[in-house]
Amino acid sequence: MRHIFQLAGALGLCACLAFSGGCELPIPNDDSGQAPAEGQLSAIFLDVGQADAALFTFPDGRHMLVDGGNNNDGEKICDYLREAGVERLEYMVATHPHEDHIGGLDDVLEQFQVDNVYAPVLDDGDVPTTKTYEDFLTAVEAEGCGLTPAAAGDRLLEESGLSVEVLSPAGSGYSELNDYSIVLRVDFGQTSWLLTGDAEALVEEEMLEGGYDMSADLLKVGHHGSDSSSSAAFLQQVKPTNAVISCGTDNSYGHPHESTLEALEDIGANLWRTDLQGSIRAVSDGTETKVEADPTVCCDGSR
Ligand SMILES: [Zn+2]
Repeated sequence: MRHIFQLAGALGLCACLAFSGGCELPIPNDDSGQAPAEGQLSAIFLDVGQADAALFTFPDGRHMLVDGGNNNDGEKICDYLREAGVERLEYMVATHPHEDHIGGLDDVLEQFQVDNVYAPVLDDGDVPTTKTYEDFLTAVEAEGCGLTPAAAGDRLLEESGLSVEVLSPAGSGYSELNDYSIVLRVDFGQTSWLLTGDAEALVEEEMLEGGYDMSADLLKVGHHGSDSSSSAAFLQQVKPTNAVISCGTDNSYGHPHESTLEALEDIGANLWRTDLQGSIRAVSDGTETKVEADPTVCCDGSR
């Protein structure tokens, strides 16, 4: 039996809890891409050291937080959200249950209204037993919105000119927890942003075989710039104009790997790095994506 983040197994609760709680799911309509995009889509890739956290703001003001840094980043992310005027997160995505992605999400859940929390479905044997993971599940339960499973083909949001599509995970039984990562494609007007979590080359190949349009103006580079992601075939299809790497200064993993940086340079991507430049902000008007570093924002006190 598989569970979304194994909520039932970890908390001894009915699995149906993951799908209940009274939160309203977005009601998609089918006119995506038919009307010109209005307003702006923005995202800030927060400097949370060797971790991931990104806040998206949709043109109508709704917000989506993708990952929440390490445990120690939770309060800093909450402070940033308040500074940014966020009162409510309509969408939260926990790409996969490693600490550097879900560590701070419990703090966010405790301090903000969160309407929908998305997570991948894990096989029994892949369920973490960490306190970080249990803290996250406990916070989701307290929030009362349950966990919503996300898998390839799902759409978190589909509206005129704007869509958020899940490209992976397409299967189960991955040997690496990283490969369960929720991969998101955010399309706004003519611009496309791709976020691959910590998905590695195996998943990149799956997505290529899945026949998706992988081209993107902006790629949130997989697994903090590790050489276990960003295969040549994948980058050739994505061909990002901008590549954002979220990693910590002098991290012990050696991220980003030199070969990944070279591969990104070879395809002509502009490189953006949280370890060198601080938080990275991206804005799309539906026609063009503009990226800039914003070192005044959040969060890694070590720089
Ligand atoms: Zn990670």
